[in-house]
Amino acid sequence: MATEHFDVLIVGAGLSGVGAACHLRMKAKDRSFVILEARERLGGTWDLFRYPGMRSDSDMYTLAYDFRPWREARAIVDGPSILRYLQDTAREFGVDRHIRLGWRVTRADWSTAEALWRVEAQGPDGRLLQFTCGFLYLCGGYYSYRGGHDPAIPGRERFGGRIVHPQDWPEDLDYAGRRIVVIGSGATAVTLVPALAETAAHVTMLQRSPSYVVPRPATDARAAKLSPGQGLAWRLVRWRHLLLQQWYYRVARHDPQAFKTRVADLARQQLGPDHEARHFVPSYDPWDQRLCIAPDADLFRAIRTGQASVVTDVIETFTETGIRLASGQELAADIVVTATGLELEVFGGVTLSVDGRPVEPGEALGYKGMMFEGVPNLASAFGYTNASWTLKADLIADFVCRVLNRMRRTGLRQCTPRNRDPAMGRRPWIDFTSGYVQRAIHLLPQQGARAPWRAHQNYLKDLYALKLAPLNDGALEFSNPAP
Ligand SMILES: Cc1cc2nc3c(=O)[nH]c(=O)nc-3n(C[C@H](O)[C@H](O)[C@H](O)COP(=O)(O)OP(=O)(O)OC[C@H]3O[C@@H](n4cnc5c(N)ncnc54)[C@H](O)[C@@H]3O)c2cc1C
Repeated sequence: MATEHFDVLIVGAGLSGVGAACHLRMKAKDRSFVILEARERLGGTWDLFRYPGMRSDSDMYTLAYDFRPWREARAIVDGPSILRYLQDTAREFGVDRHIRLGWRVTRADWSTAEALWRVEAQGPDGRLLQFTCGFLYLCGGYYSYRGGHDPAIPGRERFGGRIVHPQDWPEDLDYAGRRIVVIGSGATAVTLVPALAETAAHVTMLQRSPSYVVPRPATDARAAKLSPGQGLAWRLVRWRHLLLQQWYYRVARHDPQAFKTRVADLARQQLGPDHEARHFVPSYDPWDQRLCIAPDADLFRAIRTGQASVVTDVIETFTETGIRLASGQELAADIVVTATGLELEVFGGVTLSVDGRPVEPGEALGYKGMMFEGVPNLASAFGYTNASWTLKADLIADFVCRVLNRMRRTGLRQCTPRNRDPAMGRRPWIDFTSGYVQRAIHLLPQQGARAPWRAHQNYLKDLYALKLAPLNDGALEFSNPAP
C-alpha cells in the first residue's frame, strides 16, 4: 500500500469540509491538506438531496460561511443555489484543487510513537491507499449516505404504485396529475408537499403526530434594500438573524405554552375556517424536535387551496391502491413518498482507534462539542440542531486553526483533551426526542456536565469557548511523543 502524508486530512467535501479547508487556507496557510470525498461530487447534503422543492430551512445569512457572506435578498433558498454557493466558495478559495473525489475513508489509527494518524481509504477503483496525517478532521456529516430510514410498513409488496424515499429521488419520476401520499411531518415532508402540490392531482401529508410548522417570509425585506458592496451592512443582517433566532429559541424554551398557542393561532389564521389547525399542534414542547419552516406559508396555502391536505393517523397497511389507516380511512395513491427520516451515523462511518485501541463513538466524551477525550489531533464538525449548522462549523474550524498554529509555534505535535475528573456526569450529545435521534442515541458521543466538556446549542457561548477562550484550559494537553 502506497502512503502519502498531509498535515491535515479532511474527511468529506460537504459544507463543513469545504469550510474547514477555506479556514486552513486563510489561517494556517503553511499546512498541507487534502479532502477525501466518498462521492463523485462535492456538496454533501446539498448535492445528494434532489427531491422537488429541496431547500434550506434556516436563513442563508447564517447558513452561509462567516467569511463569505450571502448577498442575496432571499433568505430561504433552494438546494441548487446552496450547492452553487459551495462550489463557488471552493473555487474562489482554491480548495477544489485539494479535493479527491470517490475516496471513502474507512479507518484511522493514531500512533502515539509517531504522533500521526494512519488513515485507510478506498478509491474509485476499489484500490486501498494509506495516508498519514498530523491532524484528522472529520467532516462527514451526521447521517448515512447509504440510504434513509425506511420503516417496515406492512403490505408494501402489494402496493401497485411507486414508493420513493426523498434521499433517493428518481430523476425520471413524473408526478404531474398523480395522487401522492407523503408519509412524515418533518422538514422534508413540509418542504415536499407544497412543491409536489403544484402539479400533482392531490398531495396528502400523512403524519403520525403533528410538528411545529412556522410560516416565515422567504425574503428579508431589509436585506433586499442592500447592495452587494455593503459589507458591514451584510454583517449586521447576519447578526440580526443570528440573535433573533437565538432569542426565539430561548423564548420558546422558557414559555413553551405561550409559544404553542402562538403557533396554533398562526396555523389557524393561515388555514382559515375550513381546515383544522389541530394537525399543527404537537404534543411535545417546542425544540424538543427541530422546528419546521413554511417559507411564505407555502404549505398552508397548498392546504387552503385544496391542492394538499393533512391526515393525522396511524398506518395499518399498504393496500393495492394506497394506504389503509387505523381509523379505517383509506388514502388512494399512485405514489407514496416515505419522508421518514435519516439514519444517523457518526464520524462519517470511519472506524477510529488510538494505538490499536478502538474508539467507541457511543462512549466518547466530547470536548467543546468537537474533539474527544483521549483522542489526539482529531476534530469533528457537528453543527447546531437549533440554528444553522455552519455557525458552529465555522467556530470549530477556527479553533482547529488555533490549535494547529499553537502546535507549530511550540513544536509540540500532539494535542489531546484529558478529563481529570472521573466523577463528572455525562449527558446525551443532543436532547432531541425525534425518532431519528432516539433510534441512534446510543451511537452518538456524550457530553460532560460542565465546560469544556459541554456541547452547547448556543452560538454566543461557543463564540467565547472556541474563538476567545485560552487554549490552555487545563483540559487540552499539548505534548510530544516520548523520545
Ligand atoms: C434535507 C436536509 C435539509 C437540511 N437543511 C438544513 C438547513 O436548512 N440548515 C441547516 O443548518 N442544516 C440543514 N441540514 C443539515 C445539513 O446536513 C447541514 O446544513 C450541512 O449540510 C452539513 O454539512 P456537512 O458537510 O457537515 O455534512 P454533509 O452535507 O452530510 O456532507 C458530508 C460529506 O462527507 C462525505 N463523507 C461522509 N463520510 C465519508 C467518508 N468516510 N469518507 C469520505 N467522505 C465521506 C459525504 O459523502 C458528504 O459529501 C439539512 C439536512 C438535510 C438532510
